[in-house]
Amino acid sequence: MKVPMFRGCVLWWLCGLTTSLQAQIKDFSLKAQYIEGNSKVLFYAKNPGVCPIQVQISLSNPEIVADPSLVRDTLHFVVASRLDSVVLLVLPILTETGKNLWYSHAIAYGNPAQAVDDDFQYQLPYRQGKTKLVTQGYNGRFSHQGEYALDIKMRTGTQVCAARGGVVLEARGDSQRGGGDASFADDANYVKILHSDGTTAIYYHLKYEGALVGVGEQVVQGQVIALSGSTGWSTAPHLHFSVKRPMWMEEVSMPTLFKSRKAEKPRSIKPWRLYKSF
Ligand SMILES: [Zn+2]
Repeated sequence: MKVPMFRGCVLWWLCGLTTSLQAQIKDFSLKAQYIEGNSKVLFYAKNPGVCPIQVQISLSNPEIVADPSLVRDTLHFVVASRLDSVVLLVLPILTETGKNLWYSHAIAYGNPAQAVDDDFQYQLPYRQGKTKLVTQGYNGRFSHQGEYALDIKMRTGTQVCAARGGVVLEARGDSQRGGGDASFADDANYVKILHSDGTTAIYYHLKYEGALVGVGEQVVQGQVIALSGSTGWSTAPHLHFSVKRPMWMEEVSMPTLFKSRKAEKPRSIKPWRLYKSF
């Protein structure tokens, strides 16, 4: 009898920010192991990072699984953060077919079942007391169609503050490239922060060496985390800011409220208006 072999092909699930996701999730791993004595395949995952990771496993030849009910549903799992090793799936295999089991997997940030705090009051991502112009708002006509993101006009080198506290998931500051077409799309410097409710905030287009915090670092609301710039696909110095919530195998941007003069009256932000940060 031929012993089945297992080959995975890793298929990164890209949420727009190509290079970054791979950088952060590089610690995550999914492995399959064949247990010869009882003809079973074990899928197990390792997630030492600070963010839960979703995994979706696809089998190319599920017909060699002895119990079809085990693979009838989508093989989707959420692997908690800081986990050394966890068994996700055990599949009995019809070894007499002599076939290998082929699989691939995709990954994405976050646990879609986690409850998001829609009422949280974010700080506009610059120093308290400063006033800045928002040039593009939610669903903006220029480049924010279908996206809840803000563009805030900022001179290069302006201090960018954490809109909400959390832990740094990703940070990049090594790019010196920026310009007005899609060829620059992967060249932005940025900081991405994970909040306690599972949402993440992205601060985009930072200047060269403008990411002032490192991965794994804890930050508080209002802390200076970066210096603005115009790297990546950007025509003029500004900060692109957005908050995303984890959904099924993707992150989706969401509207948020911002602090105003009065705590009981948080603001929604609209384009072509000046806003003071509180
Ligand atoms: Zn933008």
